[in-house]
Amino acid sequence: MGSLAVHDLAVQARFWAKVDKGPHPKGCWLWTANSTSEYKSFTKSGLPRKRNRDYGYGKVTIGGVSRRAHHVSFEITHNRPLRDGMILRHTCDNGKCVNPDHLLEGTNVDNMRDMYERGREPDLSGELNPSSRLSWEFVSRLRSEYEGNLNLTCHGLARKYNLTPPHLWSILTYTSWNPDGRPVGILREARKRISDDDVRRIRKLYDSGMRVYEINPHFSNISKRQVGNIARRKSRVDVND
Ligand SMILES: [Zn+2]
Repeated sequence: MGSLAVHDLAVQARFWAKVDKGPHPKGCWLWTANSTSEYKSFTKSGLPRKRNRDYGYGKVTIGGVSRRAHHVSFEITHNRPLRDGMILRHTCDNGKCVNPDHLLEGTNVDNMRDMYERGREPDLSGELNPSSRLSWEFVSRLRSEYEGNLNLTCHGLARKYNLTPPHLWSILTYTSWNPDGRPVGILREARKRISDDDVRRIRKLYDSGMRVYEINPHFSNISKRQVGNIARRKSRVDVND
């Protein structure tokens, strides 16, 4: 019944009225109405509950049936529902996007073949999970962006890519997407290492009259708060001037 209602032109007009196509025709078209719950139903440790991993998708009620907005977009555009056993993937990693050009109908087998061609072990915590909307390429981009800029918080990065902070944190700390069994949390340790030379340079600049916000841009791998604490001798007191 849900599928039949999708062919109703008035229903389609109502659907597209809730879509923000943005300034670029080839960019993401964002669903502006309801989404599946993003911040509810997490475990005590802050990870999304497994049964609720599909948060962050647009949702719409058509013909009395609640459906994912990107599925409806696909159905309107191709005038048919998804084929049996197929999943619909976002090539843009943006769960709220309903641009038909960013939606790819495929099978889990397609996903698996992609991974084998790239020489990776199948890993159910990552891309092979049918409800996952990330890719290995995107995951490594997230990690290097976070690692390369200490002013970037997990919350800030999560906002930028429309992910939930607990989800992103599990990626950044290798709690998920970790086929090689790398120690969890090692990323944070790498971010903490600031060389003694950098500590001395920061203090020299600070003592010469520069403000913390002026010094910070010269140290892209050190956060503003850390620069302030180092400059004022509140941290790294082990380093003598
Ligand atoms: Zn998109």
